[in-house]
Amino acid sequence: MHQTEQTTLLIIGGGPGGYVAAIRAGQLGIPTILVEGQALGGTCLNIGCIPSKALIHVAEQFQQTLHHSQGSALGIEVAPPRLNIEQSIAWKDGIVDCLTSGVATLLKKHKVKVIHGWASIVDGKTVDIASAGLRIQCEHLLLATGSKSVELPMLPLGGPIISSTEALSPKSLPKRLVVVGGGYIGLELGSAYRKLGVEVSVVEARDRVLPAYDQELTQPVADALKKLGVHLYLQHSVEGFDAQRQCLQVRTPSGEILALETDQVLVAVGRRPHTQGWNLEALALDRQGAAIKVDRHCQTSMRNVWAIGDLTGEPMLAHRAMAQGELVAEVIAGQHREFNPSAIAAVCFTDPELVVVGQSPQEAEAAGIDCLVAQFPFAANGRAMTLESKAGFVRVVARRDNHLILGWQAVGVGVSELSTAFAQSLEMGARLEDVAGTIHAHPTLGEAVLETALRALGHALHL
Ligand SMILES: Cc1cc2nc3c(=O)[nH]c(=O)nc-3n(C[C@H](O)[C@H](O)[C@H](O)COP(=O)(O)OP(=O)(O)OC[C@H]3O[C@@H](n4cnc5c(N)ncnc54)[C@H](O)[C@@H]3O)c2cc1C
Repeated sequence: MHQTEQTTLLIIGGGPGGYVAAIRAGQLGIPTILVEGQALGGTCLNIGCIPSKALIHVAEQFQQTLHHSQGSALGIEVAPPRLNIEQSIAWKDGIVDCLTSGVATLLKKHKVKVIHGWASIVDGKTVDIASAGLRIQCEHLLLATGSKSVELPMLPLGGPIISSTEALSPKSLPKRLVVVGGGYIGLELGSAYRKLGVEVSVVEARDRVLPAYDQELTQPVADALKKLGVHLYLQHSVEGFDAQRQCLQVRTPSGEILALETDQVLVAVGRRPHTQGWNLEALALDRQGAAIKVDRHCQTSMRNVWAIGDLTGEPMLAHRAMAQGELVAEVIAGQHREFNPSAIAAVCFTDPELVVVGQSPQEAEAAGIDCLVAQFPFAANGRAMTLESKAGFVRVVARRDNHLILGWQAVGVGVSELSTAFAQSLEMGARLEDVAGTIHAHPTLGEAVLETALRALGHALHL
């Protein structure tokens, strides 16, 4: 009863991993079919990176206008702003539509056949799409099904308990929001809601926010959250939600139960590889924890079955998924490629932003490397002053013996854009002298990168 199609490459999942693999495969002349159950662009374009940054931008503009209306030092006089959240969300959706239809156009241009429907594995070379009454047979199967939000058993999603997906498309804003989880997704959305006027609290089991990063780096973010009026409940754990009283019950460090009254609870406690519900078990692939284990070519334990992106575990980042997707298409085309990046930048679009690339001082020390560590504060950077944001710093980690740069970290306004220079310097094997010998444009935040390298060499100019 199935109609059967044959192809060389079949990709399950049209997120940044899957669609980039498909485009590259198309460029290389590989007959390719891509199956997507929801929307092209995956988590990243539809319910992740792009919509979250759009909402953060709306919140920042709103807060800035409010700030000016209250009499800012800049001499801008405006009336207090009002928010039309429906229009804000429509604007955000417009960006998402533009990007996802752009992906569809690119796939078409590269002669990739896109099938809308949920794929279910039959074996390593056969996949069914029941809704389309279709069976596809392929030489190469690429798994790119991404990840799902982790749910907490005591906080099942529904009604006032929401995930990042609902938080990115509110019909109206709640008066109060408790965010469970002080990682980057919880803090990005929590800060945006706070700037839009919502009373926000963050409950985090560990003793500080962004616990994946070192304390010195995260302190400016914690300070800014306090200044913004976000209540932090650190070392608190969630016990449950009392729907009648609209209270989130949390356990304090001393073991008492505290009731936090709230209209909504955003659960943001991480993401896990999406491995269930599409008969992946049939392949019995090797795992690394919950993730699919892959080698340096992104090949799974089964020949000609490949996996990329969030499905393969941490770091669960869109740019990693894209790089793996591009690589797999090239490997299938017969090119000699290995996924072996010197570093993958991780950015938190908090306020201030935070970026890490390569090794931190602690990681380098743990690896037994004798290092130089230097940092330069944005308080001494002219461009940061003109942006009214002197908080934060740039930090470099380099080998003491030959000055090879091992890692960069930064926290401050707009530092997400420094991630490119950081990643390039690591990928190109730069030494401190290479950065110190490069003329950096003035006035830019990048001058803090130059000064950090100079400081590591013992002669910062502007400190
Ligand atoms: C709120 C939020 C903010 C984020 N911000 C950032 C950020 O700023 N920077 C960053 O790098 N990363 C960010 N991420 C993470 C980023 O979105 C992911 O790392 C990235 O989308 C992973 O890409 P992927 O291709 O592996 O999977 P996904 O983007 O998850 O795509 C997988 C696709 O597969 C489809 N699929 C699954 N199963 C099947 C099936 N059986 N049949 C057919 N289709 C199927 C799904 O519908 C989905 O479209 C964010 C995530 C969230 C939730």
